[in-house]
Amino acid sequence: MATVYLSLGSNLGDRVNFIKRALSKMAKHPRIVVEGISSFYETEPLEYPNQAWFVNAVCRIRTDMPPRDLLDALQGIEKELNPERIMRWGPRTIDLDILLYDDELIAEPELLIPHIRLHDRSFVLVPLAEIAPEITHPILGLTARELMEQLTRTTEVRCLDSETSARKS
Ligand code: AMP
Repeated sequence: MATVYLSLGSNLGDRVNFIKRALSKMAKHPRIVVEGISSFYETEPLEYPNQAWFVNAVCRIRTDMPPRDLLDALQGIEKELNPERIMRWGPRTIDLDILLYDDELIAEPELLIPHIRLHDRSFVLVPLAEIAPEITHPILGLTARELMEQLTRTTEVRCLDSETSARKS
C-alpha cells in the first residue's frame, strides 16, 4: 500500500460541498482508504485573478493502485462532479491532483510526481503542512513546513474554521 497526498480544489458552485463529495467518492472507492483530511481553506486564485476564490484542502490516502491507475480513478471522480471544464486554470467544480506518492519520482507526459507546482503554491503547502509538516519533497529534500516558510509568491489562504468544525462533527 502506498501513502499518497492529494490536493482538492473547487471554485464553482457550492465549493465546500464539491470537496466533500469528492472525498466521499474517494472513501467509497474499493482501493482507496482516506486516512486524513486537512482543514478547508479559502484561497485567492493565482491565475485569472478575476475568478472566484477557491476552496482547497489536502488529504492523505492509502492505496494499492499504481500511480497511473490512481490518476484514472481521480479523473473519473472529476468527470462525475465536473461535467464541463471551460478553461485551464479557470473555474472548476473540482480539481484533484496527486502531490506525492510515497517517495516515487514519476515523469511521464501525463503524470508528474511530485506535482510540478507543489513547492510554490501556498494553497497546497498550507493544508499539506497542517496534516504532514515533516513530509519531505523527494527531489528538493525540504519538508512541507520548510517549503511553506520559504514561499516568495504568497496568495491569501484563510482557514474556514466553521466549515472545518462542521465537517469534523
Ligand atoms: P489540471 O487541469 O491543471 O488539473 O491538469 C490536468 C492534467 O494534468 C491531466 O491531464 C493530468 O494528466 C496532468 N497531470 C500531470 N501530473 C499530474 C498530477 N501529479 N496529478 C494530477 N494530474 C496531473
